[in-house]
Amino acid sequence: MLPDIHLHSRYSDDSDELMEAQVKRGIEIGLPVICFTDHIDWDFPLPDFHFDYDVGEYMEEIELLQEKYGKQICILKGVELGMQPQLGDRYRQLLDRYSFDYAICSQHLVNLQDPYYPETFEGREERDVFYDFFEETFRNLSLFHDADTLGHLDYIVRYGKKREESYRYQLFAELIDEILKLLVRHDIALELNTAGIRKGLGFPNPHPDVLRRYRELGGKLITVGSDAHVHGDLGKDFDLAEQILKEEGFTEICYFKERTPVFLKL
Ligand SMILES: [Zn+2]
Ligand SMILES: [Zn+2]
Repeated sequence: MLPDIHLHSRYSDDSDELMEAQVKRGIEIGLPVICFTDHIDWDFPLPDFHFDYDVGEYMEEIELLQEKYGKQICILKGVELGMQPQLGDRYRQLLDRYSFDYAICSQHLVNLQDPYYPETFEGREERDVFYDFFEETFRNLSLFHDADTLGHLDYIVRYGKKREESYRYQLFAELIDEILKLLVRHDIALELNTAGIRKGLGFPNPHPDVLRRYRELGGKLITVGSDAHVHGDLGKDFDLAEQILKEEGFTEICYFKERTPVFLKL
């Protein structure tokens, strides 16, 4: 199986899962590598959420699991950083201070709202909200390009009601191309996130058309993650992910160790 390098545990404010349960599940389904990427999403605008944790404690718990299970599975230390324009310097300091193996940067907000909640779309054309989301992603990546991969590029489509009607790569080609070019220029990988499939989208994030376009623009770094917030979702739809990547012309994927890509043939 491919490495699963996007998963969450109780350190994320939207997960109650134990780290050890994720590790045991990884061994059970034969994952060679997993990487915890719990949310740090500072200045999150919704008061119910506090996406922050004691990174020292987080690292220690992963180290204990590495000692206990290291012969059966490679366990890595990552983080998923929620992008906002004012956070670049703070995130750079965080990445300097702690020895993460891997950092994902993700756009979780649009117009300071969480698109998970339908209010985000109220009174607006869905397509316009999608456009804002891609524009903010581009702007944030222009300011902060210190992470290793861009998580779930077209994540917002999961929360649209019309989905396919409002979203095709072609509708946002110019803007998405600008994002992809930034990734290529800064050696940032593009993540294939399988959660979209589980959420009924019928395709991963990003859509295969975006994966193909990334390759056409010279992109070579692909990471894969389930974004599991419970251990039952770990490694979900990875066969399909592999098939899609092969169809789109990719011959290898990578995971990150000590912030350096390790390549695996597909
Ligand atoms: Zn995310
Ligand atoms: Zn995530």
